[in-house]
Amino acid sequence: MEQEVNSMNYLTKQAAMKNAGDDILKISGMAHKAKLENPDVVNATVGSLYTDKSKLYQFQLINYVLATIPNEEMFAYAQTDGGEVFKESALKWVFRSKLSKMKNSMNISVVATPGGSGAISNTLFNYVNAGDSILLTDIYWGPYQFMINEIGANIVTHPMFDGSKFNVKAFKEVAENIVAKEQKLVTIINDPCHNPTGYSMTKEEWLELISYFNSLGKRNIPVVVIYDIAYIDYSMYGQDGSREILALLQETNEHVLNVLTFSGSKTFSVYGLRLGAQIALSKSKKLIDDFERTALYSTRAKWSCPPKIGISILNKLMSTEETEKVFVEELADARNLIQARSSIFLNEANEVGLVMHPYKSGFFMSIPSEHPNQLVEDLRKKDIYVVPMEKGIRMAVSSIPTDQMPGLAKRIKEVIE
Ligand code: PLP
Repeated sequence: MEQEVNSMNYLTKQAAMKNAGDDILKISGMAHKAKLENPDVVNATVGSLYTDKSKLYQFQLINYVLATIPNEEMFAYAQTDGGEVFKESALKWVFRSKLSKMKNSMNISVVATPGGSGAISNTLFNYVNAGDSILLTDIYWGPYQFMINEIGANIVTHPMFDGSKFNVKAFKEVAENIVAKEQKLVTIINDPCHNPTGYSMTKEEWLELISYFNSLGKRNIPVVVIYDIAYIDYSMYGQDGSREILALLQETNEHVLNVLTFSGSKTFSVYGLRLGAQIALSKSKKLIDDFERTALYSTRAKWSCPPKIGISILNKLMSTEETEKVFVEELADARNLIQARSSIFLNEANEVGLVMHPYKSGFFMSIPSEHPNQLVEDLRKKDIYVVPMEKGIRMAVSSIPTDQMPGLAKRIKEVIE
């Protein structure tokens, strides 16, 4: 007979509480199955970019680049930080025309990671003690919770919106409470194309936050801004407009450490390759030296080195102006596709009076609801599959074919009523 074991005696105290839940996977699986049986099913659960023929979106240039990479450049170990060529390529891509200005005004360090997720968790790991608070908007991407629980820290939220604007006042009020108790501020800001609302902050909103961060310096409060730019290449500000906002970080003072977390998954539509980077920026050289030392250490401790294929793709893409230019054009088509889908929905939502969170651009839109699970279930009965979130539902416009958009807002509104 099998001996009874108490599995809780095996797990650490921290691990015993872990439960990632399977709500999203479950509803996604159901949607996938339903769509195979009935093509009219709307599957708005998939957080990746899909074509209008419901195939994973692929960039021709990325496929071309991949086909020309020698085996050795795919299968060999990568350098722990990604290597010098990668670091420069990542900076060139992320900052574009603003790069030389950024280099002149800030100290910068780049460490390659497996996706944006690796970049966020590697940053949290070295900057947040167990028991500390991390400031988030009250609507946020679910996996932050796993990353923050993993290090024994706490999420503290502020109301994200004041009407249709980012609630800077609430951000500052809640930040002040944290600072009063902990004498340090760590925040994650997911912008532009916030997941799950699709909100993108304005230049003025960013400037107000930066001025607040700088004011904390006068009180000697350390500030760590984890700036999750996973969807930067899908911003309605466009390829260069989105970088205008990034360049505002030059205004942050010495005591602010900014860590941009880049996701190649979304930009290059290579989700499974796990391409990403932590890009630390500060006026303080000491903060950047410490960042590099500790990020590299944690990389060695956790995944040893990043996947080589993604590194090689980015290096090759950025190796000539021609390849980069062709890719930028392809990316504009992808952005326009999402914008076309979302415009149909937004116009109709407006016509039928469907209340939404303020969407600007990107993969996701969300609709507030006090009973998200019930709403998901009611919509499912009408062949519309969406994902529940805290106080609302999330719709991935990134994966709904354009011809399924007309009439969708009205159908949702009817179910809500
Ligand atoms: N940040 C946000 C807001 C996301 O939605 C995602 C992916 O869905 C990521 C970061 C990380 O993406 P990845 O780890 O695939 O690069």
